[in-house]
Amino acid sequence: MSRRVLVVEDEPSIAETIWYALRTEGFDVSDAATGGDALSKLASESFDCLILDVGLPDMSGFDVCRTLRQSSSVPILFLTARDSEIDRIVGLELGADDYVAKPFSPRELAARVRAILRRTNATPKASPPTPNTAPPSTLDHDPLRKVIRCAGQSLDLSRNEYHLLLALMKNPGRVLTRDQLMDLAWQDPGTASDRTVDAHIKSVRSKIRALTPDFDPIETRRGLGYALRE
Ligand code: CA
Repeated sequence: MSRRVLVVEDEPSIAETIWYALRTEGFDVSDAATGGDALSKLASESFDCLILDVGLPDMSGFDVCRTLRQSSSVPILFLTARDSEIDRIVGLELGADDYVAKPFSPRELAARVRAILRRTNATPKASPPTPNTAPPSTLDHDPLRKVIRCAGQSLDLSRNEYHLLLALMKNPGRVLTRDQLMDLAWQDPGTASDRTVDAHIKSVRSKIRALTPDFDPIETRRGLGYALRE
């Protein structure tokens, strides 16, 4: 089955080069020349990867990415023309998977796309969104109500579970040791043990699973601690 890639690039000559390189490699390529066009295609069709130019006529690629990340984890490879843009892609945690600076070689771009698809295939979190079924599996925090939602539904967490999950959400991708989690989540850390943390993690996981069976955002790092998958 061929993989679907959406190329979002307003400059026809660059877009054509990319289509050609990807079609030669057997990808099924669609295109969009504006951010608005890209977002409407992404809302109605499913893609395995998005190639996203930063400089688009109607909005920036960053804005497209931010909007998209509210509902989708489709892998994104940015195309950028300036060093200052690279700093933003790397520094702002936009949720990009990779970037390629212009001018680029089409073969290198195709190789990067293949690498992204290999990587994201290995982890279930980045599987392409399945429209018209369950809402996307994401966690979000409502600081006013002190509620964490999973795929839009409130998780019924104890006080310690809430602070535990929140500590992980505030440090996505970072491994927190059990000691760190105790300090961050327990009002009186002295009362908790490693086993207490493990038991709470187990409980949080089962509450998340009860809402979204295939979503397991908490990663166990053996001998180290826990991390929230990015
Ligand atoms: Ca452009």
